[in-house]
Amino acid sequence: MLNIVLFGPPGAGKGTQAAKLIDKYNLVHLSTGDIFRANIKGETDLGKLAKTYIDKGELVPDEVTIGMLESEVDKTPEAKGYIFDGFPRTTPQAEALDKFLSSKNTSISLMVALDVAEEELIKRLLERGKDSGRADDQDESIIANRISVYNKQTSVVADFYNAKNKFQKINGVGDIEEIFSRLCSAIDNR
Ligand code: UDP
Ligand code: MG
Repeated sequence: MLNIVLFGPPGAGKGTQAAKLIDKYNLVHLSTGDIFRANIKGETDLGKLAKTYIDKGELVPDEVTIGMLESEVDKTPEAKGYIFDGFPRTTPQAEALDKFLSSKNTSISLMVALDVAEEELIKRLLERGKDSGRADDQDESIIANRISVYNKQTSVVADFYNAKNKFQKINGVGDIEEIFSRLCSAIDNR
């Protein structure tokens, strides 16, 4: 299996690149943010709970996100591999994902991290907010909180994979095709 963690701060371009990677490598895309938003739209209990956190730019509690992610993986037993987009976002999530994948006799192949400077992220998120309908992309204080949560709780997840020699940082500034080819080289040379 090829299991990739696509990593990076909010607005780094994970969703855009994930869509291209699943096509090229025949993988299943699991974006925890997208799954939460689908649940919010469907007004499920999970969606109602997630909304209280997402509206503030906070993280949904680990046990909720981990449980949801595992049940999504279990829905696609025939998958050739996964792109994990927006997950794991904390070290306990990374540890749980490791255990879960090893119970299935597989593991993370590589974390690829899109590197983008903070000013550029804020610009991109506000631009996306104009037509995405995402409330968390339209409010500068929510955006600032998401970036701060990323810096405090999420960025350390890179160390977890780096310690296993499974971490590659990629320049996330440039045109979409250029960044895509950087990602593909990292994956192919892993
Ligand atoms: N979120 C979360 N855990 C996740 C994924 C998303 O708590 O594993 C919440 C969090 O509040 C985050 C929001 O959902 O700010 C949007 O997540 P998404 O991954 O879509 O945002 P991105 O970082 O890609 O802009
Ligand atoms: Mg996203």
